[in-house]
Amino acid sequence: MILVVAEQRAGALNRASWEAVACAQQLAAGEPIAILLPGGGDAATALAGAGEVLTIEDSALASYTPDAQVAAVAGAIAQTSPRLVVMAHTYQARDYAPRLAARLRAPLVADVVGVKGTGAGATFLRPMFQGKLVAEVAPQGDGPAIVTCQIGAFRADAVTKGTPAAARALSVPLEAASRQTVEPPFQEARQAVDLGQAERIVAVGRGIKAQDQIAVAEKLAAAMGAEIAASRPICDNGWLPMDRQVGSSGQTVAPKLYVALGISGAIQHLVGMKGSRTIVAINKDADAPIFEVADYGIVGDLFDIVPAMTAEIEKQSH
Ligand SMILES: Cc1cc2nc3c(=O)[nH]c(=O)nc-3n(C[C@H](O)[C@H](O)[C@H](O)COP(=O)(O)OP(=O)(O)OC[C@H]3O[C@@H](n4cnc5c(N)ncnc54)[C@H](O)[C@@H]3O)c2cc1C
Repeated sequence: MILVVAEQRAGALNRASWEAVACAQQLAAGEPIAILLPGGGDAATALAGAGEVLTIEDSALASYTPDAQVAAVAGAIAQTSPRLVVMAHTYQARDYAPRLAARLRAPLVADVVGVKGTGAGATFLRPMFQGKLVAEVAPQGDGPAIVTCQIGAFRADAVTKGTPAAARALSVPLEAASRQTVEPPFQEARQAVDLGQAERIVAVGRGIKAQDQIAVAEKLAAAMGAEIAASRPICDNGWLPMDRQVGSSGQTVAPKLYVALGISGAIQHLVGMKGSRTIVAINKDADAPIFEVADYGIVGDLFDIVPAMTAEIEKQSH
C-alpha cells in the first residue's frame, strides 16, 4: 500500500498534495493508495475517490507543529503498514519529513523529480549539485521509504479518481506528543508569498535593467492576474524581495503559465521553473538557453513587447 500525506492549512488543501497523489498513482501499478489528511475536515471530501481517505481529527493538528505532525503520521503508518509514504516537498514536509524518517529509521528520498518503474522495484530521480546531476535512488530496507516530490514534477491533473467513499477516521493519541505551542504567524511570514501555489507568474531578469523598470513587468502581471517573480540577480540587488526569487536557491514553482522577461535561462533558474505547464520567454538574444524550455518564444526587446502585450490583455478583459 502507498500512503500519501496530504497537507492543509485553515481547511484549504495544498495544491501540491494532488501532485503527491499523482506520483503515488504512477508508482502504484494496481497497489492500493490511501491518502492521510491530518486534521481531517472538509478537504477530505475533495480527496475522496483518489484513494482511501484517512483522517486524524485532533485539536493538536489544528495548527501545524512538527511534533504533532510526526506523531500523527507515524501513528498512521503503524496502523496501515504502507510500503511507501509520499508527500509533496512543501515547506512543511521539509520541516518534518527528516524527523519522521529518523523516528521510523526509514530511508528518506527528498525532492524527487521523477520515478522509474512501478511497484517494489521503482527507483526515484532527484537532483544533486544545484541540478547539475540527477541521482537515481533505490531505497533499501524492509520498512516504509519516505518520498517527497518536488513541486511541479508530477502533474496534478493526471490524478484519476474512482468512486468516492467516506473517509475513515484513525485514532492516534497525540496529547503528549507536542512540545510546541503555536503563536500567531509573524507579520513577515504572513506577507511572504508562496510562489509554489501561484497559477500564473511573470518573472523578470537582468534584462529589465533597472529597479524602476520593474513596473513594466508589474503592469503585465496585474493585467494577467499573475504573481511577480525574479531571477537571482534581481533579488540580490534588492530590486524585489528574496521571497520572489525562483531557482535552485529560491522557490520551485509550477504555475500554469510562466512568462520570463529578460531571463537568460541559467541552469540554477531553470531547475526552479521548468515544471511550469506553459513557458513564454521574451529575450532579445535568440540563442538564450531559456528558449530551450520555452513553449512560446519571442525574440525582441521586452520594453517594446511587454507594454504591447499588457495593452492587448487589458483590451480583451474590458
Ligand atoms: C550556487 C548558485 C545558486 C544560484 N541560484 C539561482 C537561483 O535560485 N535563481 C536564479 O535565477 N539564479 C541563480 N543563480 C544565478 C544564475 O547562475 C544566473 O546568474 C542568473 O539566473 C542569471 O539571471 P538573469 O537571467 O536575470 O541574468 P542574465 O544571465 O544576465 O540574463 C539577462 C538576459 O536578459 C536579456 N536581455 C537584456 N536586455 C533585454 C531586453 N531589453 N529585452 C529582452 N531581453 C533582454 C539578455 O539577452 C539575457 O539573456 C545561482 C548561481 C549560483 C552559482
